[in-house]
Amino acid sequence: MNFNTKLLHGKSIKKYADGATLPPISQVSAYRFDTAQEQEKVFNHRAFGFAYTRVGNPTVAAFEQRIAELEGGSGAIAFSSGMSAITVAILNILSTGDEIISSGGLYGGTMDLFRDFERFGIKTRYVSHFTKEEIEKEINDNTKIIFGETISNPALEITDIEEVAALSHSHGIPLIIDNTTATPYLVNPLSLGADIVVHSTTKYINGSGNSVGGVIVDGGKFSWDFEKYAALSPFKKYGKAAYSVRIRSDLGENIGGTMAPLTAYLNVIGLETLGLRMQRICDNAKALAEALNENKDITVNYPTLGTDHNTALAAEELKGFGGGLITIRVGSKERAYRILNSLEYAVRATSLGDVRTLVIHPASTLYIHSTKEEQEIAGVYDDLIRISTGIEDPEDLIEDFTKAIKASDEAEN
Ligand code: PLP
Repeated sequence: MNFNTKLLHGKSIKKYADGATLPPISQVSAYRFDTAQEQEKVFNHRAFGFAYTRVGNPTVAAFEQRIAELEGGSGAIAFSSGMSAITVAILNILSTGDEIISSGGLYGGTMDLFRDFERFGIKTRYVSHFTKEEIEKEINDNTKIIFGETISNPALEITDIEEVAALSHSHGIPLIIDNTTATPYLVNPLSLGADIVVHSTTKYINGSGNSVGGVIVDGGKFSWDFEKYAALSPFKKYGKAAYSVRIRSDLGENIGGTMAPLTAYLNVIGLETLGLRMQRICDNAKALAEALNENKDITVNYPTLGTDHNTALAAEELKGFGGGLITIRVGSKERAYRILNSLEYAVRATSLGDVRTLVIHPASTLYIHSTKEEQEIAGVYDDLIRISTGIEDPEDLIEDFTKAIKASDEAEN
């Protein structure tokens, strides 16, 4: 079954109550039991059922099953935001004294989170290029997670997942990949050796910018060393499923950052058009990047634009697509602001992966809490604009940017 068909007819898609084609929104906090004995069984995971929405909900489960199938995972657990999914994905296996090695080109919020972890004695070592060679130099006995984004946001470097996973496994360390910017349409990191995938569903998965959410997908194949990953040792009897079981019945449940049923429903609808949207978004990004590249005084960063290792990786790993993000350096913050303010269709808004083209000045927004050093390692500069293309007609988008650049330069003169 090909991707777009799977979105509509995959094995995770069930006939819901009354033959509904979509999962009904189960907007309740608690579920009723006929007997206390039945309730006890569900609580003890001895019978299937839902007891309380923070722990499990049928609409959320319908979304989890769909995303698990699309990413090729053994299971998925949905959260109230991408950040809560990342928090749980990491804290599920780390203890004080442990270390993360992460790609430097990282979403600003994740960098802020990793700084928060320092207070709990969890250190992050950033590498400026997320390559086997650079990562290997940083590995030590305390390294417990290797973390990267498929297409780093906003540096737009593509991770060679196969290579990094092989290195990671040779040291007995799991690889966690944030696949938000690529989506399962471009790549399944688990099939290339990643162990855990996380998403901000707020972006391409939801697609319409109508709710915030996140999800963890477990590959279910990593052989956990229960001494090294002591947090999982009470779940040893579950073997390779220990990671998911701990999230579901311990840390994830206790932190309580559950996805709301309505969000899960909106994400199910979003997923159904993921393939069509991604195709159009990536085509638009490529066309716009090429048009912007005609401007001699603007530096355009788009993965398939050049002839470097990124282009080769896009061809190999991302089916030739470069994703929906472009960054441009325009020479100064003032010019960046003038261009941003002159755009008519592109919306100045803080997100990505929407059906609308969105633009932002990362240095003064997403990375406002980052140090200069962190900004530099993430590839954020004062004159940088990030563009997340939508599904508009490409000619209109190109015209919008061409006019905005012209208007901004005329305003300066
Ligand atoms: N990961 C990436 C790559 C992101 O771009 C974002 C948000 O922009 C997040 C995670 C965090 O997601 P959320 O805003 O849903 O918490």
